Amino acid sequence: MAPIDYSTPLMQKAKEIAQEFEFDTKQVNAAVEEYQNMMRKGLENGGEAMTMIPTYVTAVPNGTEKGVYLALDLGGTNFRVCSVTLHGNSKFTLNQAKSAIPRELMTGTAQGLFSFLASKVGDFVREHHSEHFEEDNEHHLRLGFTFSFPVDQKGINRGYLIRWTKGFDIKDAIGQDVCRLLQIEIDKLGLPVVVAALVNDTVGTLMARSYTSPGKARTLIGAIFGTGTNGAYVERLANIKKMTATTEAQEAYGHYDSSSGEMVVNTEWGSFDNDLRVLPDTPYDRALDANTFNPGIQMFEKRVSGMFLGEILRNALVVLKDSNAGLFAHEGVVINENPNLYRPWTIDTSFLSLVEADQSVGFSTSRELMETELSVSGACEEDVEAVRIIARAIGRRSARLSAIPLAAICIKTVLAEERARAATPVSEKFSTLTLGGDQQHDVDERPFGTVVYDAIHAVIARVKARVAARAAPLVDEVEDREGKMIDIGVDGSV
Ligand code: BGC
Ligand code: MG
Repeated sequence: MAPIDYSTPLMQKAKEIAQEFEFDTKQVNAAVEEYQNMMRKGLENGGEAMTMIPTYVTAVPNGTEKGVYLALDLGGTNFRVCSVTLHGNSKFTLNQAKSAIPRELMTGTAQGLFSFLASKVGDFVREHHSEHFEEDNEHHLRLGFTFSFPVDQKGINRGYLIRWTKGFDIKDAIGQDVCRLLQIEIDKLGLPVVVAALVNDTVGTLMARSYTSPGKARTLIGAIFGTGTNGAYVERLANIKKMTATTEAQEAYGHYDSSSGEMVVNTEWGSFDNDLRVLPDTPYDRALDANTFNPGIQMFEKRVSGMFLGEILRNALVVLKDSNAGLFAHEGVVINENPNLYRPWTIDTSFLSLVEADQSVGFSTSRELMETELSVSGACEEDVEAVRIIARAIGRRSARLSAIPLAAICIKTVLAEERARAATPVSEKFSTLTLGGDQQHDVDERPFGTVVYDAIHAVIARVKARVAARAAPLVDEVEDREGKMIDIGVDGSV
């Protein structure tokens, strides 16, 4: 194949657009600092800052737990009903039924969604745990409800929905206790099931990893980079000032077992910097935001996670096409009537990864994908290269942004450890970082998983190196804006 000429108007324009997605080291560092401020504010009052939700989970598993539990996982794209048997030796067995959430239920009524979920729990229990239906069986199955949206938690099985994210928009559910909504529907069906715990997916991830890999390396963060993005970590209770500062606050938050002195906090980092003080903002981000149910909210998530990257790319491609620089313009290209290229939310994020990683001769893979994803047939190699340049820039920006909360939390946790002067070398504590919903492969399965995965490993390596080299107190390094505390890239230019 002929080498691509990078001096053409199309290539120039593609590079110009890619440039708009630059987010350099200095900006990453400034954002890490801002993130730390927002964490602190969120722990003090929750207000306009990140929500920083206390989860009432005051201890994480250590691998010795036993028993049979049901779990219902309502995430962004799929839902799952599972039963898990913990064997008490860090091992478990799992039965699960997974399916896509019917689209119409995402924007209908609370009753519509929760009765559907309850019916799926019913099907599952009947299939796998029929013994619990026997008349004389008083023993109810205990269900953990993984609900991957921000809830104002007021107890281990009580939480009021704050807002929907990821394209859900069920208005009458806002402000309601989601455990109660589920229990009501379960009871209507007469199922032998009690909703015993409510957790965010990030909290579930943190706990699952703690169960499967206990020991000297403590799990630091439960992070999700899926349809949406968010993370949870273990905080000292004394730092969660909004819970402990006054007697009124203590009463408002009610009872929890405080003996561990710690509690898992669900950060809800998807809404980090909704004011865009440090986050990048391009015309493509603005066009996306304007076309969501929640404009101005989840601004971090909208630049990072799986639901959004395809749409950012589409917005950029529309501008590239309309600039008449020559995208999809050579003889023989056919753009279908009403093409996906011009229809919002039609491009899957996997398209970015596949095009980015395409090694096929003459880019045949990408050219085929352009037919199905963009409704453009006969694209040439130069077209593919133009799309690739922009897709790579969007992926790289997402990865760099992903590093912000991870680095900030790692640093905060390290500092706390430093103060406590733990006996274990701090660097060892970085060996476990839980990614994804179930296991690490959940991240790899994600279309842009590799991008984020690389970024995360780069961050861990950086923080580790800094900690190991500990010449000056860490805090100075954090405050050193010019420093290369975090410098990551998806192209290996770590
Ligand atoms: C939600 C979080 C959730 C994350 C990942 C976000 O949109 O606000 O609660 O943890 O998605 O599923
Ligand atoms: Mg999930």
